[in-house]
Amino acid sequence: MTGVKHMKWWGWGDEGIAFDHRDKPEFAPFVERAIGLDVSTATVPVPAFDELDLPASRADEAFHAQLTDIVGGEHVHTDAMARVVHTFGKSIRDLLRVRSGTLSRTPDVVVYPADEQQVQRIVELAVSADAVVIPFGGGTNISGSLEPAVDEERVVISLDLGRLNRVLEIDEVSGLARVQAGIQGPDLERELSRRGWTLGHFPDSFTHSTLGGWIATRSSGMQSDKYGDIADIVRGLRMVRPNGVVVVRPVPSASTGPSIREMILGSEGRLGVITEATVHVHRVPPVRVVLGYLFPTWDAGLAAMREIAESDASPSVTRVSDARETAFSFATRTRSKGIQSVGTSVLMKVLQRRGWDLDEICLSFIGYEGEASHVRYEKKLVRRIVRRHGGILVGKGPGALYDRKKFDTPYIRDFLLDRGAAGDVSETAAPWSRLRQLYDTTMAAAGKAYEDIGVQGWIMCHLSHSYHSGACLYFTFAFVHDDQPVKQYDQVKSAIQQAFVDSGGTLSHHHAVGVEHSAWLAQDVSPEGVELVRALFDGADPNRNFNPDKII
Ligand code: FAD
Repeated sequence: MTGVKHMKWWGWGDEGIAFDHRDKPEFAPFVERAIGLDVSTATVPVPAFDELDLPASRADEAFHAQLTDIVGGEHVHTDAMARVVHTFGKSIRDLLRVRSGTLSRTPDVVVYPADEQQVQRIVELAVSADAVVIPFGGGTNISGSLEPAVDEERVVISLDLGRLNRVLEIDEVSGLARVQAGIQGPDLERELSRRGWTLGHFPDSFTHSTLGGWIATRSSGMQSDKYGDIADIVRGLRMVRPNGVVVVRPVPSASTGPSIREMILGSEGRLGVITEATVHVHRVPPVRVVLGYLFPTWDAGLAAMREIAESDASPSVTRVSDARETAFSFATRTRSKGIQSVGTSVLMKVLQRRGWDLDEICLSFIGYEGEASHVRYEKKLVRRIVRRHGGILVGKGPGALYDRKKFDTPYIRDFLLDRGAAGDVSETAAPWSRLRQLYDTTMAAAGKAYEDIGVQGWIMCHLSHSYHSGACLYFTFAFVHDDQPVKQYDQVKSAIQQAFVDSGGTLSHHHAVGVEHSAWLAQDVSPEGVELVRALFDGADPNRNFNPDKII
């Protein structure tokens, strides 16, 4: 046994954990209104694992023996479960394909090295045998960053970094930690917090994703406003290549020509295998609180977020949902929050009397971290801005609930899939001046796509991850699919992605390119930019041994 945990092969998260709507009385009526789905029963069973149709492994005995020689027999796997779990990430396309029962191509062998030397030997073996190496972190990406090409004829090795899972060293003077790349979020934070530190990187996939995966996809966590995106957090790197290790030393800044660090960030396994990173760490703050606010309109919420980003307040989280996502959040309240619901309905009456249109209300969360006096000061600044935009503070309750439940939301997608509905997300970033128009264009494009495929679809949005010049808009969409769900999904997803780039946004703020978004890369970074990236990949990997076809 390798001791490395994996998610369910057919969905998100841990076996035995699932979304349950029975204590959320408003959920079923909401879904019925939004996409016309009756959630009372599951109608689309997950196929039995034994019935999955997989191609045979192409790794022959001699190759298997060579891998065994490097890592030991218990760390080389060719069984169906290992191969299925390592084939895809967790996008809706991935889940639909794995649940269809037929996998056209899987990795041929999964290997779990124990250290960098073993990674080096595997990489050298792969290149000399002209095999393909796909580094595997937690398998949470939603951009098609892992799958082997269907027509790949060479042996495909999934190189799982799960045993490289230790915090090696903390430089307490510099606030830097040296960490192995395969560590998953909770293990990393537990190790750091035992010594009084935090990384501050909490993507929604935190529970199952890894440091190496975050780096290889340029991830962003929900506290990025304070701690930065992973691209800001990572200072030093080690990446194994066929002839040795690329070492980026952990200096605070450097003028050393084009940045090797930046080339590795977002490289999705195309340049080599990241084994280690040196990352910024921070003392665990004495105070950490997320407050809920309400705004009368989406425009008011957007304007307030911009002003907060411009102000001296530097909250850890700035997030505001549009009215549709706010309605969804209210619909996932639990029955046990009886008193809170009474409180909410009283509040709604008060707001109505003040002239608010209840259908336009937008829920916001602002997070504060630091010394008590600093947090008090920030809250005061934010309160003034919120008031200026007609908003109100609703207190700690909703924020605490959001903070506790944020990692549970992905389970809802499996719940819907079990009932014949497909849901996924698309996110972008754009300058503040373009956000509202980008939002309108995207909503219209999704609406048109739904009309074209003849379904009642849903789309909602929030702003999160604010910067000096703009922010990320994150859209969630869902619809009841027919017997060609992937085709229908493609139509909706493409319309949304096209609206992003047409409106001055990027194809992705933090989900990477993979194969899912590569069609929009030239529109995003220019055809000449694509040629530069192609030259890098071709030069660094002439035989296309490293995760080929991803990004370009
Ligand atoms: P994997 O999925 O295993 O791999 C992703 C890519 O990185 C692949 O190309 C792989 O080859 C490469 N790779 C992995 N490890 C290495 C390594 N050591 N060396 C070289 N290449 C490597 N993303 C965010 O940024 N923020 C979010 O809030 C967020 N929320 C999500 C919520 C859900 C429910 C889901 C399903 C996904 C979410 N994502 C989010 C996307 C995903 O979690 C990120 O892309 C994450 O960074 C992937 O990490 P991983 O360890 O799972 O990598």
